[in-house]
Parts: sequence; structure tokens; C-alpha cells
Amino acid sequence: MKIMKILVFNSGSSSLKFQLFVKADLSVLASGLIEQIGDLKSAAKLSFVDSSGLLARELKRSDPVADHREAIKVMAEMLRESGTLVDSGELAGIGHRVVHGGEAFHEPVLIDEIVIADIEELIPLAPLHNPANLMGIRVAMEHVPQISQVAVFDTAFHQSIPEHAYLYALPYSLYEKKKVRRYGFHGTSHSYVARQAALYLDRPLNELNIITLHLGNGASAAAIRGGKSIDTSMGLTPLEGLIKGTRSGDLDPAILFYLGRESGLDMDALDTLLNKESGLKGICGENDMRTISEAADRGDSRARLALTMFCYRLQKYIGAYMAALGGADCIVFTGGIGENSATVRQLSCQGLERLGLTLDQEKNRIRQKEILEIQAADSRVSLLVIPTDEEYEIASQTLQVINKLMAS
Ligand code: AMP
Repeated sequence: MKIMKILVFNSGSSSLKFQLFVKADLSVLASGLIEQIGDLKSAAKLSFVDSSGLLARELKRSDPVADHREAIKVMAEMLRESGTLVDSGELAGIGHRVVHGGEAFHEPVLIDEIVIADIEELIPLAPLHNPANLMGIRVAMEHVPQISQVAVFDTAFHQSIPEHAYLYALPYSLYEKKKVRRYGFHGTSHSYVARQAALYLDRPLNELNIITLHLGNGASAAAIRGGKSIDTSMGLTPLEGLIKGTRSGDLDPAILFYLGRESGLDMDALDTLLNKESGLKGICGENDMRTISEAADRGDSRARLALTMFCYRLQKYIGAYMAALGGADCIVFTGGIGENSATVRQLSCQGLERLGLTLDQEKNRIRQKEILEIQAADSRVSLLVIPTDEEYEIASQTLQVINKLMAS
């Protein structure tokens, strides 16, 4: 009998990340990344891991890849050669990550021309991401038009946030006319780890108040009541909220007027300053938390300051979301930093004992791939380290849409 599969695409402007799952149990068959697409001068970077056999194989090639159309062909070839996907008839569906779904999308949807037009319309809200995501969708639809394709949005999980939390205190007409509001991102990660937390705690998700902290190169926090996001730290764009690798996170907006007037910086220069030259990098010259932690351990005062600022901002969001939720049952750390940095977890929980949150220092230092529970015995709040898996979540949501389609 033919084993049916689900393919997940995360298409960037010059990259294509993909992962192939078995439909029945969502186990991973293969995954890969094609980078430097469109750069004809230097060879594209390709990597592919086939995990269907007893041994994982890694193939690397170095031919240039002209565009996403060619990238999909290269991917199909790699899948065919590895024997993981010999024929497109084995595909039950393809799930595409789409960064911005605006207010139009509360859940994953089957892609058709109307959905494509809606994603296109949202380009002004995500000028870098949505066009790249659309490129992957268009090329995949061209390549295998007979396969159901599903869009899974980073913003969709946060569409449950109530009006009083998603509106900015600006003239209401800006929301009506320009859709200026909080959207939030990392939705697939926040929803995945919240569900995993409930499963781990063996409690119904709809009875839990959870704060999820996705801490990677981008970072965001979410307050989740009964499985629904009620607030999140990223806003109209991913700039707001926590301190990130190169992004400032929250600041006094008047700083922009001040810099515009006093230093003559124009809009583009301010955009670059806040998105690319700020955050951890702005403070200590480095955006990688591992390097920063090592420098802080060696006594580098700027690295130590960047680390302290990152954790202090995080701690303020934990406090704010405990208030927003009226108390939390569980706090989840995830993302490259959340999963790996015992120091960040320790500094961000430090001093919160009166809020019912006590870390076990020993447990916090354990490193493992599975879910790790790190609260002390007397902590009222569970503290969990949960590895995120956005591709799995996209595959799972894609499957839900396909199953609904087949049932109808
Ligand atoms: P992500 O964007 O989720 O891949 O996370 C990337 C971030 O995780 C980078 O800042 C890395 O330095 C950080 N990271 C990964 N491993 C560690 C570690 N062992 N300690 C501290 N930070 C880490």
C-alpha cells in the first residue's frame, strides 16, 4: 500500500526549507534547505537529510540554483534519489508557512486564487516575508497543481487576542483605514508548545493559563488562556516587545522623532537602525546569545549588560502576562535560547518567588532533547523547557485542513 506523505515548505527570499512527513503519524522522512537561490555567481548551498533509513544520510551539492522554480526541481530530485518521495502521487498535501495573515486568516486554509490574492494584499504589512512565501506557493502550485496546498499563518494563533489588547492607543481611524494593530508572530511555535505543555502536565489545555516564551534570534512572549492567545509581545511587526538579536524591541517612540530631528536620520535609516543594528548587537556588538554568554562569563561588561537587559525585559513580560492571565499554571521556554540557555532561564526567573515561581537550579542545568521540567518542588508555577517544532505544527495543521476537506 502507498504511504501517503505531507510536505512542508518554508520559503524565504533566497532560501527554501522543506520537510517531508508520513501522513499517518507525522514522523519525519526527510528535511532539507536550499540557500543562496538566485545568486548565480556563487554556488547555492544545499543540504538534505534523509531519515527514512536506519542511518541518516546527508548529501551536499554545490550547483547554482537560479530561482525558486529550479529550487523545487532540485528538491524533488533529492527526494526522489533518496527514495523518500518517488512520485508526487504519494503527496496528501503541501503545507506552506506564511508569515502574515492579517485579520483575514484565523486558521490554516486551503490555497486557491482568492487566498493568494489576500496574501498578496497583505504584502505592505510584511514586505520581506509574504512575497517570499508567495513565491514558494506559486511555484509549488505550478509544479503539482493536483495536490491540495494549505497556508499556515504565523499570525493566525494570535487572532483570538481581544480588541483592548490588540489596539494601539492611536486614532481609531488608523485601525479602520490602515489596519494598524497588534498581530503577533511565532504563532505556530506558541500554539505547538502550549499544546505540548498540556499533554506533558496531563491537564486539559482549556483549563490552563500558560505563558510561552519563544526565545531565538527573534523572540516573543504569549499569554495563553485555555489554549487561546490573549496577548503577545510582537505587534504590527516583529519589532515590538522583547529584545532580539538585532532588533530593539520596546522603546519610547519619541526616540525616532528625536533622532530624525537631531541626527537627520530618514525613515529607511531608522528602520535599519531598529531592525538590524539594535537589540543584543546594538548593546554589545554580538547578536548570538551563545557568544554573548561566553563573553559574559569571561567578564566582558557589555556582553554582561546585554544579557542582563535581555533577561530583565523578559522578566517584565512574565510579570505583565501573569497579571493579564490572573496567574499562570505554567511557563514554557522554547527557541534556540529558551531551549539551551540555562543562564537566561535562571536570570529571567530570579526574584519571582513571590509570584509563585521558583526554579530548581540543578534541574535547570540538565540538557536533554525531551521536555524538561525545571521548577522547584515548592513552585506553584510549572516551568518547562519544550523544544519547538514549527514544521511539525505546519504539517499537523495542513493535515487537519485536508482531513476536513475529505470529510466534506
Ligand atoms: P533560533 O533562532 O531559535 O534558532 O535560536 C538562535 C539563538 O539561540 C542564537 O542566539 C543562539 O546563540 C542561541 N543558542 C543556541 N544554543 C545556545 C546555547 N547553548 N546557549 C545560549 N544560546 C544558544
